[in-house]
Amino acid sequence: VRDRKLIVHVIPFENRRQILVTHDITESERIDMMRRDFIANASHELRTPLTVINGFLEIASMQPDLEVSIRSSHVKLMVEQGERMQRLVEDMLTLSRLESTEFQVRSERIDMEMMLRHILQEAQALSAGKHQISLEFDGPDISGSSDEIRSAISNLVTNAVRYTPEHGAIKMIWKNSPQGPKLIVQDNGIGINQEHISRLTERFYRVDKSRSRETQGTGLGLAIVKHVLIRHDAQLLIESHLGEGSKFSVQFPRNAVATIE
Ligand code: ADP
Repeated sequence: VRDRKLIVHVIPFENRRQILVTHDITESERIDMMRRDFIANASHELRTPLTVINGFLEIASMQPDLEVSIRSSHVKLMVEQGERMQRLVEDMLTLSRLESTEFQVRSERIDMEMMLRHILQEAQALSAGKHQISLEFDGPDISGSSDEIRSAISNLVTNAVRYTPEHGAIKMIWKNSPQGPKLIVQDNGIGINQEHISRLTERFYRVDKSRSRETQGTGLGLAIVKHVLIRHDAQLLIESHLGEGSKFSVQFPRNAVATIE
């Protein structure tokens, strides 16, 4: 078979006859490669803040009489790096929980209006008045896991704030459509070049690493969004133009509309 690797087991069967069992290992090799990549990326991401913290600790131990103002600026930088590591580990744990098949989606009625208003307030706090953020609410409640859906929407809205310069506008729209409930998170920020769009939901994929770090990104946000949406049978559509802005649309299936009180 071309381009495929097969494992062949020879198993004794009914005295002398034998059967061959073949497994296609192309898929398992791919998964193995993804796992190796993930571990390499995660270690690299954690090593950077650790190196910074260790460096400052070494200075502190070698120069105990360091000027107070210098020492407090070192402490501040160490706290920032510690927080960065914490965000990374939390996002990695969230992803691994979402991927585990044993962990079923909890189905509960989600009060969408309450959730979206709460996310709006958080986004306004993050933006600190630098953006105009609005919510158009005209859709039904849905059923699903409220924690997971909140974290997916919150990731999209946080990204919109982070990747939109001052005075930009961010719109959240919740509506019903013939295909089912739909969420749109739209910004007029920096936008994304076409070549990157299909890779954005890969773990640790970032268009601009330094900007993502500056804005406290872990590079795992959209991977978390993707997994939450798969678990809720919803689809993500990303449309973007460099320098013009981005639109993230989430299409939920019709049967996501909550029926239980
Ligand atoms: P990060 O933590 O780096 O934001 P994400 O997985 O949330 O990681 O997003 C991956 C990358 O997609 C980001 O680093 C950024 O380059 C790009 N991106 C995501 N949302 C937007 C947006 N609204 N506008 C522009 N670029 C975005």
